[in-house]
Order: sequence, then structure tokens, then C-alpha cells
Amino acid sequence: MNYRHAYHAGNFADVVKHAALARLVEYLKQKDKAFRVLDTHAGIGLYDLSSDEAQKTGEWREGIGRIIDAPLPPQAATLLSPYLDAVRDVNLAGRLTRYPGSPAIVRHLLRKQDRLSAIELHPDDAGRLARHFAGDFQTRVIELDGWLALGAHLPPKEKRGLVLVDPPFEEEGEFGRLLDGLARAYRRWPGGIYVLWYPIKDRRAVDAFRAGLAAAGIAKILDLRFEIRSPSPEPRLDGTGLIVVNPPFTFENEIRVVLPALHRLLAEKPAARWSVEWLAGERPGATATGA
Ligand code: SAM
Repeated sequence: MNYRHAYHAGNFADVVKHAALARLVEYLKQKDKAFRVLDTHAGIGLYDLSSDEAQKTGEWREGIGRIIDAPLPPQAATLLSPYLDAVRDVNLAGRLTRYPGSPAIVRHLLRKQDRLSAIELHPDDAGRLARHFAGDFQTRVIELDGWLALGAHLPPKEKRGLVLVDPPFEEEGEFGRLLDGLARAYRRWPGGIYVLWYPIKDRRAVDAFRAGLAAAGIAKILDLRFEIRSPSPEPRLDGTGLIVVNPPFTFENEIRVVLPALHRLLAEKPAARWSVEWLAGERPGATATGA
């Protein structure tokens, strides 16, 4: 396990993933009934953007750095405000020096009846995450293999909520593990919302993953793809993908407002595209795209 998210925190992929995650959590808050978020690859929770790691890549400058103070169309600004408020909450006014990871963003949005289970396998990161949430009775930090958690921790006793699966993709076979993990989790809890992150880097692997999902027998799958540049000759993170299983009925329309607004600020030209496509479900094959 060499992957360190500190090099990448706040990059364009984090922005898209966390903006979508915040919309889904906000949807769950529409009912009083408690829900749980299970974050299977949680990271350390809070990232110092002045650290050597973050400064070395500077990825956050081309991600959250371009968004936090940017003028946004009114509807997109409203939809993005829960996410951007979570980022502002860990920073002093007017200065961007820290970035919250997925568990910190989710925790910022929870009500008092809701719960978060944050799973992290790397012992140092799990330790830092546990210290971050020390004394917080709504959050449980567990040092565990996230793939195991998909079996052992589902369904949650609240019977409402979402599962974020955000693996590092540092080893071969991660697409396969995502497919298997989702199939296992879905069998245990078909009613949950699942969010799976994937890189758009190896296009053939992405195509095979999408085909595998479409054939998985899962009722509703929405695929968001957000590319910041046309395919690079060398393997490079050209885009970010998100699979959303069981998206709430409001989500597709919201994300069609959010993605183009983010794309205008984050995409390099030329030929960068975003898309929203049903792989299974209400309108299979229906696509919204933009450049
Ligand atoms: N979800 C985080 C966020 O959005 O802020 C970022 C997570 S980062 C992409 C992936 C994390 O998974 C790393 O912190 C890594 O240490 C951890 N990890 C790697 N393999 C794991 C496994 N099998 N189970 C749980 N965590 C794992």
C-alpha cells in the first residue's frame, strides 16, 4: 500500500466525487429517518494543502483551487453549496490551506441522528483518521480492509444510506475488485445507494468495467464521466468516473447542472467531455453529454 491521497487531495477528481457525494447526502436528509454512510476507503479525513506532498504535485490548485472562489451560475452555486461549505468550514475565511476528505465532508453534512462508518486499511492513515474523529460518537473509524467491510458492515441497521467505495487503483485488478465488491454488497443490501469511483486512464479497462456493470443484474446504475482533456498518448488521469447505483430521482437532473458548471472551470481544452449515462435502469443508454 504505497498510495497516499495527500498528493492528490482536492484535485479535479476529488471535486467531482465530493460534489456528487454531497448531493446524495443532502437527498438522504430530506426524510427525518436516520441513515448511515459507509466509507470503505476513507483516507485521513483532513489534508494540509501546504504539505510537501500537496505542494509537490500542486494538483489541488487545478481542482478545488479553481472552484472555491469562482463565480458559478446560480443553480449550480445552490447545488454545490453544501460541498463548498464543508470545504470552507475547515479553512479560515479567504484562505484555502486545508481540504476535507470524504469522511470529513460527510460528517459535516450529517444530522444528529445520522452515522458514519469510516474504514481505512493503512495503519498510519487509520490512526490519523481515528484521531481526527476522536470523541465523535456519530462516527466509527475502523482499521479494516474495505472490501471486507462491504460484506461485514452491510446492510446497516438504519436500513437507509449510502456506501462510498473509493479505492486507490494502485494495483492490478482494482476494476475487478470493484465489480465483485459491488455484486456482493448489492446482494446483501439491494436498497442502498452505492458510489464507486474509477479513473479514466486505461480506456479499455473502463469499457470492460462498464460492460461488466451493465451485465451485473443491478436494477439502476448511472455512470458519470468527467474528462479534463482528450486521451493522452501515455497513461495519465485524463478523467474521473463515478458509478451511482440506486441514484435518488432528483440526482440525475442535479448532476446535469453541476457537471457542466465544474467542467467550464476544470477542463483543459481541447475535446474534454463530460457525460451522464444510464448503464442499467430507467432509461438505459440515455446520455447527456457536453464539452
Ligand atoms: N475516500 C477518500 C476521500 O475521498 O477523501 C480518499 C481515499 S484514497 C483514494 C484511497 C484510500 O484507501 C487510501 O487512504 C488507502 O490507504 C486506502 N486503502 C487502500 N487499500 C485499502 C483497502 N483494501 N481497504 C481500505 N482502505 C484501503
